[in-house]
Amino acid sequence: MRMDAQCEENYTDAVNKELLLSYGKRMHNAGYLREADGNLSVRCAAGASLYITSAGKNKGALRLFEIVEVGLHGKRSSGHEAPSSDLPIHLAIYRSCPKFGAVLHAHSPRAVRLAQSEGSGPELPCVEQPSQIPAHIAASRAVLLKNHGIYVAGKNLEEAWRLLEKIERPTAKT
Ligand SMILES: [Zn+2]
Repeated sequence: MRMDAQCEENYTDAVNKELLLSYGKRMHNAGYLREADGNLSVRCAAGASLYITSAGKNKGALRLFEIVEVGLHGKRSSGHEAPSSDLPIHLAIYRSCPKFGAVLHAHSPRAVRLAQSEGSGPELPCVEQPSQIPAHIAASRAVLLKNHGIYVAGKNLEEAWRLLEKIERPTAKT
């Protein structure tokens, strides 16, 4: 079977929203996000928009109505809350990388340490400006933002989460 650049799983949007809540909780419970830190998004089933967490919310206790749907060109389609201030980064990643269906931004402990020491080589690059993230994430799938944290992308939330776990716990058996 031919595997093209689109996401291989075609979850319904109801499932995508539930998964967004569930991975937000996992990130919070793992200590990768404190208080209202970080954000995460998933590409909608039709591909032309994304679901993103709203600004200023604790991802451990997010509710369905705190998810915002935004078209890939920036027009909000549903949700009453303000989307995460990182929305432009998420939009740019989905627009330039059709293979990605999910993006996570965390302040996870090892990533934060590496971001202070400017990364760990070409497999985990470190950039100075958020605007540089989309260009680098296509190849490496994970990019550190200097003195800040990490952005991780995957074909779906599970893949992005696994990569984040691997970066945080490089010696753990999976
Ligand atoms: Zn951050």
